[in-house]
Amino acid sequence: MTNICKLSLCNELLSAHTTFKIGGKADYFMLPQSVKELASAVLWAKKSNIQFFIIGGGSNLVINDEGFRGLVICTTKLDSIKIEESDGKKLLVCGAGCLMNDVVAFCENDSLSGLETFSGLPGTTGGACYMNARCYNKSISDVLFSADYIDTRTGKTGSYKMNSDDWDYKKSPFQNTDKIITQVSFSVHDGEQSEIKKQDEYYVHDREHKGHFRYPSAGSVFKNNRDFGEPSGKIIQDAGLLGYSIGGAKVSDWHGNFIINYNNATAADVKALVEHVRSVIYEKRGFLLEPEIIFK
Ligand SMILES: Cc1cc2nc3c(=O)[nH]c(=O)nc-3n(C[C@H](O)[C@H](O)[C@H](O)COP(=O)(O)OP(=O)(O)OC[C@H]3O[C@@H](n4cnc5c(N)ncnc54)[C@H](O)[C@@H]3O)c2cc1C
Repeated sequence: MTNICKLSLCNELLSAHTTFKIGGKADYFMLPQSVKELASAVLWAKKSNIQFFIIGGGSNLVINDEGFRGLVICTTKLDSIKIEESDGKKLLVCGAGCLMNDVVAFCENDSLSGLETFSGLPGTTGGACYMNARCYNKSISDVLFSADYIDTRTGKTGSYKMNSDDWDYKKSPFQNTDKIITQVSFSVHDGEQSEIKKQDEYYVHDREHKGHFRYPSAGSVFKNNRDFGEPSGKIIQDAGLLGYSIGGAKVSDWHGNFIINYNNATAADVKALVEHVRSVIYEKRGFLLEPEIIFK
C-alpha cells in the first residue's frame, strides 16, 4: 500500500456523494486536500493501472448500482476562495471543489456582483465549469475568466484562458478530455450588497417553489433543444408522463424534466425510466431527447 492508498477510503458508498442518493461502492475514494495531492492520486492510479474518475458535488451524476472498480477522486476539499485583480478586472479565484453556493455567499458578503443567478445551484465550481452549467439564461461561460487544470495524460498543469468559441449550450472544452479542473476564476464586479442579497434569495426561492429540492435528483434530466420548439419538460408533460415511475424512480408530478428518487431508486430504475421517456417522445414526436445527466 502506498501513501496515497492510505489516504483513501476503501469501499466507500457513492450514494452518499451524489444528490440522487444512488450509487454502489468505489474500491477507493479520496478527498485530496491540495492540487499536489490530487496529482499524486492520479499518478498512483495510473502507475497501479487503476481506473479513476472525478466527482465534485455529484449533482449531475447517476452512478451505477455496482459502484466503481477503481479510484474516485472527490474535489470538495479544494475549497479556497480569494479575490484577485487582473488588468483592472476583479476576479474571484476558486478551488475547483468550492460549492457554488459558498461562492455566491462569499460574493454577497463582499458585495461582488455577477454570479447571482447561480445561487442555489448544487455542486462545485469545477463541475459547473465542466458542464457549462446554465441558470436563468446565464451560463458559466458568460462569467468564466480562466480555469487551471491537470492534464492526466502528461501529468502537467496548465491554464485555460476563456475563449467563447470553445463553448456552447451545456458544452465546455473540458468534456471528453483527460483534464481535471483544479481552479476556476470568475469575472465579478462591485455591486450593492442589498441588491445582490435580494437576487440571491430570489433564485433560491424560485428553485424551492419549482420543487427542486423536494426529493433527491440530479436536476434536469434532458438538455433543451431549440429545434424541438419547446423545453424538454413541456414535451414530457404533454406526452402524459408526469408521475410515471419505474421502480423507485419517478418523473416528478410537477416538472417533466425532473426524475426523482422517490422510493429507494436504483441506477437501473433511473436508466430504464430515462430510456422509456426517450422512446415515448420518439414515438410521439419523432426526435430523441439528449440526456444531460451523466451515467457512470
Ligand atoms: C436540484 C438540482 C438543480 C439543478 N439545477 C441546475 C441548473 O439550473 N442548471 C444546470 O446547468 N445544472 C443544474 N443542475 C445539475 C448540476 O447541479 C450541475 O451540472 C452542476 O454544475 C454539477 O456540478 P458537480 O460539482 O455536482 O458535478 P458532478 O455531478 O460531481 O460531476 C459532473 C461531471 O463533471 C465532471 N467534473 C466534476 N468536477 C470536475 C473537475 N474538477 N474537473 C473535471 N471534471 C469534473 C465529473 O467527472 C462529471 O463528469 C441541478 C442539479 C440539481 C440536483
